[in-house]
Amino acid sequence: MAAVTLKNVVKRFGVFEIVHGADIDVEDGEFVVFVGPSGCGKSTLLRMIAGLEDISGGEIAIGGKVVNDVEPADRGIAMVFQSYALYPHMSVEQNLSFGLRMNGNPKADTERRVKRAAEILRIAELMKRRPRQLSGGQRQRVAIGRAIVREPQVFLFDEPLSNLDAELRVQMRVEISRLHKELGVTMIYVTHDQTEAMTLADRIVVLNAGNIEQIGAPLDLYDDPANRFVAGFVGSPKMNFLAAQVVGNDGSATVVELANHGGARLRKSLSGAPPAVGAEVVLGVRPEHFFEAGEGDCDIAVKADVAEHLGSVSYIYANAGPEELIIEREASRQRATGDHMVVSIKAGRSLLFDKSGARIR
Ligand code: ATP
Repeated sequence: MAAVTLKNVVKRFGVFEIVHGADIDVEDGEFVVFVGPSGCGKSTLLRMIAGLEDISGGEIAIGGKVVNDVEPADRGIAMVFQSYALYPHMSVEQNLSFGLRMNGNPKADTERRVKRAAEILRIAELMKRRPRQLSGGQRQRVAIGRAIVREPQVFLFDEPLSNLDAELRVQMRVEISRLHKELGVTMIYVTHDQTEAMTLADRIVVLNAGNIEQIGAPLDLYDDPANRFVAGFVGSPKMNFLAAQVVGNDGSATVVELANHGGARLRKSLSGAPPAVGAEVVLGVRPEHFFEAGEGDCDIAVKADVAEHLGSVSYIYANAGPEELIIEREASRQRATGDHMVVSIKAGRSLLFDKSGARIR
């Protein structure tokens, strides 16, 4: 096991800087997920930890040892790719043992490691098959098995579940969680899927355009996002953002008027300095934080457009002027398209952001 530390890590491709000084401390045995939209630099960060990509500045340490100039094979890591990268002409058993055999690992030890990996991943009965005779989920298990037999200090996963269908993805997600608990080894996992990040991670690193927006435990990011980007990225369906303007400040509270809801106002207590009167702000409300009319601090009228019934809950897609809102409701309270409805916002269940996207606390 080993901690992984990134200090001011920079990556440039030619004149383009795509990682702008990343500081990340992954603790020994921790499961950390790098998440962010396409092109944010998360795969590049992972590949720099693996040694598959040079770093342009800063320092990477694994187990307390700086590895900037250490070959990938000597970093004590094993990487699992989206594409599985199995050898098609070899059996599962040969795929699992190949790397160890090439390194001249003693035969008995190789057999022990392969047997253990097969047991952990429950693929013992597939050992004689070729990759093409396996399902997608089984192939991904073999790819993970190849990482396990190396007995690495750190596992690196690069979008390992992207090629699987939705059901298998959920199943493999649980398997990877179980694997982490069983092995207790440091794992770093890259995905663009915030649900995967929320369910797998001890801590999440949210990336955006080469910058770290926030690092924290999944529910801390959900309840207390540092800014509008994190608030909008974490959570599904997404947080709603309502345009508003500051119309007054009194003591420790600020009063905002919603731009698209007939002058509806909300009084929100703040711990920091209040924004200036007249400032344009944005009120963030999660779909599950729209309450029944009269239950909150500020009622707004909307027109239901589409209702999605998921069984346990329903999501109502509603309009209010130019604003599209997603409202969560108990499934029993079904609403037809075109229905007018009034929902209520609670000051304590909403977040305020300034025009730049920074939280106003
Ligand atoms: P995705 O989820 O789409 O894989 P990502 O967050 O993993 O995205 P990276 O693959 O790390 O993103 O790429 C980050 C940025 O660096 C992108 O803008 C990409 O075009 C650029 N990039 C990646 N590799 C190279 C390269 N070899 N040469 C030039 N630019 C590159």
